[in-house]
Amino acid sequence: MKTVLTWTVCGPLLAAVCACAAEPALSRFEFTQPHMGTRFRIVLYAPDQTTAEKASKAAFARVAELDGIMSDYRSSSELMRLCKKAGGEPVPVSEDLFYVLKRGLEVARQSDGAFDVTVGPVVRLWRRSRRTQQLPDPTQLAQARELVGYEKVRLNEKDRTVQLTKPQMQLDFGGIAKGYAADAALKVLKQHGVTGALVAAAGDIAVSNAPPDAQGWKVAIQPLDPAQKASRYLLLHHAAVSTSGDTEQFVEINGKRYSHIVDPKTGMGLVGRMSATVVAKDGTTADAWATALCVLGSERGLKAIEVIDGAAAMFVRKTDSGEETVYSKRFQEYHHKDTKDTKSNQ
Ligand code: ADP
Ligand code: MG
Repeated sequence: MKTVLTWTVCGPLLAAVCACAAEPALSRFEFTQPHMGTRFRIVLYAPDQTTAEKASKAAFARVAELDGIMSDYRSSSELMRLCKKAGGEPVPVSEDLFYVLKRGLEVARQSDGAFDVTVGPVVRLWRRSRRTQQLPDPTQLAQARELVGYEKVRLNEKDRTVQLTKPQMQLDFGGIAKGYAADAALKVLKQHGVTGALVAAAGDIAVSNAPPDAQGWKVAIQPLDPAQKASRYLLLHHAAVSTSGDTEQFVEINGKRYSHIVDPKTGMGLVGRMSATVVAKDGTTADAWATALCVLGSERGLKAIEVIDGAAAMFVRKTDSGEETVYSKRFQEYHHKDTKDTKSNQ
């Protein structure tokens, strides 16, 4: 969707390089499957087809398992079952759910509530708006906002329980689950001996070791205008990148464009054409922060990202006079500057 992989390695060259070493020659394999309402793509290096297929199958199965836990579209998901108990006693949850919720609440605190997984009731109203092409009813929006607030969630680490302290609360992992799933898929690949891989879930990408004979995975940042060609690339290994914005999902009402990302403080869908790209040490962090930065805007967002370990960000904003791009200090460390390198498999 937004951040797109562009890397390929010349097969014969790779074989020649690897033939000299004691390690078996690695070949490039690519697999895709639909999960979490998007297309998951795995690119990996393995000694043979059987290893590659087995590893990717297990990784996709893990993503499907996580979808079953975290989906807010399926009423049977663990997340939805937890929400049905909102206002009640603490509920024991799975390790995955607990971890993602814990990380989500951490980003909520660090972003002063710009990222907030309790935003579910408000997001539901905006989803309806996308269908009806009408703004949410102000009274309903005010009621929904009463249910939002990360401080209304209580975690008990020792018992691994979650308590949602207000009835009708709704958790929404839409801004963090794909990044976590990409991390989890990389772990499964590693368990199958695949240490050099890229997992892309639309705009959320996580990578492990660089491809053989390369310093990193060359990843294109898709421009704000999808009709334009990508002009910025990152070079990454053991890292993740996420891009959020209103490029793909939005609703236009009375000539105004509202993003699927909402400001938890106002309950309003974001307006103004912009995207935020975040590089971080893992997909969970990158995904959550890319969403958070859209809400914070460039000034507050760049300040916030500087204090996150190993993280960097880039904002692109449409202005009356064209496009404006701003970077955090660390962004240059990941920027791929070789414009002559045109290798691409898109
Ligand atoms: P995408 O899903 O397109 O990759 P994001 O990662 O930015 O984009 O996630 C957007 C989704 O996150 C929304 O569809 C919604 O489910 C949820 N969301 C919207 N606003 C917020 C917010 N302020 N904090 C946390 N989650 C949000
Ligand atoms: Mg996100």
